[in-house]
Amino acid sequence: MVLKTKRAQENGENKLTVAAILKEAKAGKRKVLTEFESKQVLADIGMPVTVQELATTKDECVAAANKIGYPVVMKLMAEDIVHKSDAGAVVLNVKDKAAVEATFTKLMAIQSKSKKQVSVQEMAPKPITEIIIGLTTDPQFGPALMFGIGGILVEIMKDVSFRIAPITDFDADEMVHEIKGFPLLNGYRGSPKADLTAIKALLMKVSQFAIDYPDVDQMDLNPVFVYEKGVKIVDARIILRD
Ligand code: ADP
Ligand code: MG
Repeated sequence: MVLKTKRAQENGENKLTVAAILKEAKAGKRKVLTEFESKQVLADIGMPVTVQELATTKDECVAAANKIGYPVVMKLMAEDIVHKSDAGAVVLNVKDKAAVEATFTKLMAIQSKSKKQVSVQEMAPKPITEIIIGLTTDPQFGPALMFGIGGILVEIMKDVSFRIAPITDFDADEMVHEIKGFPLLNGYRGSPKADLTAIKALLMKVSQFAIDYPDVDQMDLNPVFVYEKGVKIVDARIILRD
């Protein structure tokens, strides 16, 4: 099975939009796609990402924010900025036109040798918890999937599960259940239960993505916001093979 892009489903084509984005990056000898490009690829194959618009001027940012609705999140997209928060390139909860304009100026002042653009995004509601889904390439076994709960559980406790792609429904279920942090998804101390079905569906889609697009070497969905109903990819990074 090949994941069809939304546009491809509409015109009966296959893998077209994603392939075009990947090809363009390759032609420009770029290995790392920006968050915006990565989420565009994922949206096209039907993964739930935050609504986003790419802007290069103050006016475009304001227009994008009006279209998306306040508050918005603004992030600087530049190829050489990988850890955006560390560089001050993520501004949450931008509430009105004046704030959009001030944030644009602030983001554009960040040092970068690359082309700078601004991603204006919907501000996703507070999740039950943040999860991380990763894709790496094992030299022996090929694409491997990683799953964990965002923040210290992954960074310090290394509380993650791994499977070689392609995974089955059963594998996805095990991946979610076997981490120590599972209770955080399952209504720990009266907090609402996360949509496990949506999490598993996303894991399966990432697995299929890895099989369909062997040009992809790594991918990080970090974080994915998890809700009682549904999930939303808030940050993504795709790295292509040499
Ligand atoms: P970094 O490159 O530093 O990982 P992120 O894009 O992940 O930057 O943003 C940092 C944090 O800001 C995220 O972990 C998330 O908690 C929050 N965040 C980012 N984008 C959004 C958004 N669109 N809506 C709500 N929160 C967001
Ligand atoms: Mg991130």
